[in-house]
Amino acid sequence: MSVATRDSPSSILVIYTGGTIGMRNSDRGLVAAGDFGTRMAAALSALPPGRRSELPDYVVWESPAPIDSSSATPEDWATLAALIAERYQDHAGFVVIHGTDTLAWCASSLAFQLQGLTKPVIVTGSQKPLESDDSDAITNLEASLAFAAQTAVREVCVSFGGHLLRGCRARKWYTQDALGFESPNWPLLGEMVDHCPIIYTPRCWPARGAPRFELDSGRPPVVIRLALWPGIRAQDVARWLEDDSLRGVVIECWGSGNLPEDDALLGVLARASAEGKVMVAVSQCPVGGINPGAYATGQTLKEIDILSGDDMTPEAAHSKLTHLLGRDLSREDLRHRLLTSLVGERGFFTP
Ligand code: ASP
Repeated sequence: MSVATRDSPSSILVIYTGGTIGMRNSDRGLVAAGDFGTRMAAALSALPPGRRSELPDYVVWESPAPIDSSSATPEDWATLAALIAERYQDHAGFVVIHGTDTLAWCASSLAFQLQGLTKPVIVTGSQKPLESDDSDAITNLEASLAFAAQTAVREVCVSFGGHLLRGCRARKWYTQDALGFESPNWPLLGEMVDHCPIIYTPRCWPARGAPRFELDSGRPPVVIRLALWPGIRAQDVARWLEDDSLRGVVIECWGSGNLPEDDALLGVLARASAEGKVMVAVSQCPVGGINPGAYATGQTLKEIDILSGDDMTPEAAHSKLTHLLGRDLSREDLRHRLLTSLVGERGFFTP
């Protein structure tokens, strides 16, 4: 491995956006910091020579203003996707270094923008800063570079804690544990075994011709995320849904896709749906999808035209709806794409 001085088709482009991995202490706690390329090279040079020599060459692109990802927005992910698209032919793979708080959102957004990938886009970060004791940063960087060089990977993935996850299926699961993320409805795409990358190819997104990038641009459409709680009041929901600028709603239902039998609440949802606001239901349970026909209370979803989000994560459902509403699609086309797996974001795994 060496730090390449210029782009080469066999090198990996490492894109640094911020996050704990690059943070330094301040009198107010950890803050995003720069000079990441130099610090990354210093950290990787501490690996044993055998492991270092296995890593691919890479080039670093650093954001001039790294951030704590708790402030990241869909516009940031549009900029990121555009950068990857622009440099796509110059590199064998990409590593995006991002804060963990919204990393799964970033990975989902990139997955819908960068459809038909023919090479890996690996999103990573760490629970501890690069220079702190027992940091997980170095092994996450090592694994991400190794995964980004795998030609069998043709999708946006999250690499964390030695695991390779489908990006649009990943969720931040642990606030501190080095495992960081899980993808409860899709098995691991790969993992590091004895510091070597192993890819489980049958679980990976298959080769499907040339890239079909659909980059987001302009202001993202307004999509909200509405999680039910017992006793939720129709008038509170109405205040949100009666907003004319609102275009879409991800409703996080109970279990298999159930809603409270509250006529006032259902009336508010039905009115929003009739006004053309696109509504998608997912479950509050992290494992498994919804099955709207299973209970009488779930039939309501169909009656008021709330689309099934199946087993999508809330992050994927929200990113997908935002992405599709931002394109000039007929209502029929939009519904069709929402209900179809575009990048492996929905549908149960059958080995
Ligand atoms: N707040 C940090 C961030 O998301 C957390 C982390 O990176 O682990 O940028």
